[in-house]
Amino acid sequence: MTGIAVIGVGHWGKNHARVYKELCQEGLVDTVQICDVDQARVLELSNTLGIQGTSNYQQILNDSEIQAVSIVTPSRTHYKVAKECMEAGKDVLVEKPLTMDIAEAEALVKIADENNRVLMVGHVFRYHPAVQELRRRRNEGELGKVQAIISNRLTFGLPRKDMGVIYALGIHELDMFCYLMEVDYPESVTAVTSRVYSQDMEETVVLAVDFGNVKGYAFESWLVPGHEKKRDLLVVGSKMSARVDYLKPQELCLYDTRVITENGVPASIEDKGERVVSIPYAEPLKEELRQFLSCVNSRQKPLTDGVVGVRAVAMSEASLTSARTGKAVKLPL
Ligand code: NAD
Repeated sequence: MTGIAVIGVGHWGKNHARVYKELCQEGLVDTVQICDVDQARVLELSNTLGIQGTSNYQQILNDSEIQAVSIVTPSRTHYKVAKECMEAGKDVLVEKPLTMDIAEAEALVKIADENNRVLMVGHVFRYHPAVQELRRRRNEGELGKVQAIISNRLTFGLPRKDMGVIYALGIHELDMFCYLMEVDYPESVTAVTSRVYSQDMEETVVLAVDFGNVKGYAFESWLVPGHEKKRDLLVVGSKMSARVDYLKPQELCLYDTRVITENGVPASIEDKGERVVSIPYAEPLKEELRQFLSCVNSRQKPLTDGVVGVRAVAMSEASLTSARTGKAVKLPL
């Protein structure tokens, strides 16, 4: 049984608080507390959820009933808050990106090891039920040989002020592509970015992620009208292809279609249509937080541990360098 706190309950952190409260009702968590420097936010959410709140995270650090903390503050604050929490004896789940600096990310992994703390990073899409189903089918050979991975994460809204699309959105694809390819890093990444309103942060990026024979392509933007939100993942296989709509965790779409070759030359298309596989609904964030709680109790390393977080930061940095230089950047850095 575990006492939990969420530090930072803005746009995303309030979801952590809500899900922990639900896990409380399932008996997996004893108590939930929230903390935010914005007192009005604390008051409102603590009233809605019926939980305690504070505007100073030092109180969380000093509270011996709290074993584990979700850190959902702005990305540039993650290093300081996570370091202090781990040094105070708390296990931490840090939202992605782990940090926006490779040396800081590596330092957090070291601090976790030295203090025997769980350090997990919120790469939530690895816990998406449709992604799990896709991986299972791919591993059983249903897709044949993976030929390409294609993702879109498009929306029309105000660009974030604290980070560009690479750290905010592209990092999901950089991590997911490696997860699907079962490698630590791609061979290289190439990024083309653009910005319309920001002086210094990209608002759109196209990423080409090179895994040798297989390439991953990702298109990320805040400035694409016409879609309320488009978030998808397509794995093209030699036998079959599969598509995840990240907004629909309860289904996976399979395309029973392929190129038929004769003497190695594409000769025709065989298309037996598409079908939707139903999957029991589970909220990806809830699955992620279940994994965190399980690791807090078992002391196992999470699927998205600090090292996974460091790699995602390194790939994001490589993408920013590529956009700046106009060249592919080899990995690991
Ligand atoms: P936000 O600005 O809406 O919320 C951040 C909150 O942290 C604010 O309420 C702010 O007052 C509070 N805060 C700042 N400094 C603090 C401190 N020292 N102590 C306590 N509270 C503090 O931002 P957001 O969109 O919720 O993003 C927060 C983090 O979550 C970012 O790192 C972002 O990348 C990540 N995120 C992840 C996902 C995902 O899919 N995994 C989705 C959205 C955001």
